[in-house]
Order: sequence, then structure tokens, then C-alpha cells
Amino acid sequence: MSLLLKNAVLNNINTDVLISEGIISQIKQNIDESADKIINADNKILIPSFKNGHTHSGMTILRGYADDMKLGPWLEEKIWPAEAKFTPKAVYWGTRLAALEMIKSGTTFCNDMYFNFEMSQKAYIDAGIKSASGPALFDFFDQKKAEEMKANCNIAIENTNISKNNSLSLAAHSIYTLSRESLEWIANLANSKNIPVHIHLAETEREVEDCITRHGIRPTELLKETGLLDTDLIAAHTIWLTDYEIDLLDEYNVTVVHNPVSNMKISTGGVFPFKKFKDRNIKMMLGTDSCASNNNLDMFEDMKIAALLHKFHNNDPEIMKAEEIFDISTGNEASVFPQLSSKIEVGTHADVLLLNPNTPELVPSHNLISNIVYSANGSCVDTVICNGEILMENRITKDEEEILENVRFLSKNLFY
Ligand SMILES: [Zn+2]
Repeated sequence: MSLLLKNAVLNNINTDVLISEGIISQIKQNIDESADKIINADNKILIPSFKNGHTHSGMTILRGYADDMKLGPWLEEKIWPAEAKFTPKAVYWGTRLAALEMIKSGTTFCNDMYFNFEMSQKAYIDAGIKSASGPALFDFFDQKKAEEMKANCNIAIENTNISKNNSLSLAAHSIYTLSRESLEWIANLANSKNIPVHIHLAETEREVEDCITRHGIRPTELLKETGLLDTDLIAAHTIWLTDYEIDLLDEYNVTVVHNPVSNMKISTGGVFPFKKFKDRNIKMMLGTDSCASNNNLDMFEDMKIAALLHKFHNNDPEIMKAEEIFDISTGNEASVFPQLSSKIEVGTHADVLLLNPNTPELVPSHNLISNIVYSANGSCVDTVICNGEILMENRITKDEEEILENVRFLSKNLFY
């Protein structure tokens, strides 16, 4: 399968781009028109797609269900009881809705954490986007639950078909929902099977205090002692950290994921230490977190809010520049996900977007990246290509009506 983008604008220059079997094979003017499919890009702006580093896609069905609450009661009184009613079908259609929203706002990959992940993975495959997901792991310090978790995890790993687009990551929920023994077990499994681990880390001050009370050490130190820092670790939030913990994340090459909207909405009380991560060259991604704590999956919005948060918090408009947050949001050069690429170059995966230059938010164009970060939103995305497959063209996607209908029906029947 080959796809030719005619007359797109890449780095301010009009060019054609040929994609062959999912890989960008030529970038130059006047490529011959023998491709299987041709898109007349007609001056549309070609940029890399967004990669969402931390999601719980199935929770899209809880969008707007419980807002304006503190994290503890929000989880314990609203979210966990609601999730107890979820069927596999609800997870499937919730994830299809998430994938639809991601496609419509230019995201082609997410690193997901949710139960019934087989349903999520099927949803990503049906939608055509790339993902990393895996069994949701928590034991709430209960030995019996821990044994069940291990058995289910082993079965899930055995039975999962891993493709180059949709890979496995172990969704170790957090140090406040997993015993020390289970954290060690996960670390051993991850290393023996070569599977990355995805965890929430140092999201709230309470998490740190409870960790010190229970274990006598801070969360990142616990990850070191249990072997999790030795795995390919992706840590979401990473707010309440000492300099020593940040040094550990650096030493062990951990990827950290910034979730600015979720942090501000839940009021985690601290701010992702961007400058300290940047000074150490720690790998960073941007994440939306779930639709229960965001409440949308539009990475344009998260980019802008990330930049504003750090400028305001540090009283320094130079601390996070538009180019930096754009690179973090689209890029993935150093990450643990081999199915991604961040650059539009010959030989890279064709995960790209065409933006419509005739939208008010992109006019005039003094600085394209400034417009993308501070002015644009998901509706500026015209065409989405993932691994050379067209997922949206002229804002038309597949199955949209069916997805919306199913989620409306399921949410009504689950909760009311
Ligand atoms: Zn999360």
C-alpha cells in the first residue's frame, strides 16, 4: 500500500511525501503519481501526530460524571463504585470513543492503563491507532487479591497478540494500591518478558506521606528497592519528588509523563518539576490522563495549559517554550515505544497530520508552532495518518455515529 501526499507544506516548504508500507519513503517535489492513493494536500500543513503518554481510555464513559471533588473521595465514592458496574462492552465502546476523540484531535498513540485491557486493545486495533496497554495490576495490600492478580496477569500475557502497532505494557497502578511483594513480582515479570511498566508516581503529597508511614522510604526509593526502576518504566505525574528522587529517575532512564490538566483539576498541590527534568535530559511525554479528570483528550489543550502552568508557577515566560512542549507532545525519540517516531523524515513511521491552514486560529502565520501551541485546537486537524493508514480525511472518520450511539446508550443504562 502506498500513499502520496501532494503539495503539503512541511517546514514552510511545499513538497510531496510518499508513504510506502507505513514508512515515509520520499520527500520531494513532483513525485510521480503512481501511488495506490493520492491525497491532494493543497497547502495543508504537515506535522507529526501527537502521542498521549498517559490515559485511561475506558473512562471516557465517565466524562462529566463526577467533577469538583478531592482525589480520595472522588476515587472512593464516585469513580471506583461506577467502574464496578462496567461491562467489557462498556470498556470497548468507551475506548472507541477515546480513540475517536484522539483521532479527531490529531493523536495516533496512547499509553493506556485500564482493566479489561483486552477490550481496550481490540478497540485501538479497530480504530487503527497505536497503543501500549496491558493488565491493570493492583492488590490493595490483600494477599488473596495479589494471587488473583498474578494469575490473571500471566494468562493475559500468554493470550495477548502483540503487534508492532499495539504493544504490551504492565499497568502497575501505583505504590498505594500494590504491596511491596507485588511490586517486586511485577519488576521480575517485566524484566524476564521484556515488557515496559506504566505506573502512577508521586501524584499527591498524601501518597508520599503514606509511603513513608508504610515503608519508611519515599515512593521512588520504593521503586528502586523493589526493582521497578530497573525496568523500562513510564511514570505518570511525578510531582512530589525530592532532588534525590529526580536523580534516581535520571540514573535509571525513566520516562516521565506530564499531565497538567488532570493535576490542576484534581488539585494535586504541586507542579511537575519540568526544569529539573529538562536540566537532566530526562525523557518526557505529555498525557491527558482520563476523561474523568481532564475531561477531554485534546493534546492541543494540554500543550497550552502545560506551557501556561509553568510560566505562571515560575513567574517566568521563558521556562517552557512552545517548541519544547510541541516536541514533548509529538516526539518520542528516546522512549520505550518502538512503534513511534517523532520526525517527518525518510525512513520514519508515517504518523502524521495535515492541519487546515484556512482556520482562523492558524491565520496569520508569523510562527507556526506558536499558533499550534497557543491558538489552535483539535478542530484544526484535517487529516490523520497512522502507520500510513488514513484514519481521518477532511475530518471524516469511520464508525463515528455508531460509537456515539453506543456510548450514549451504555452510559444511560450503566448509571441511571
Ligand atoms: Zn492516571
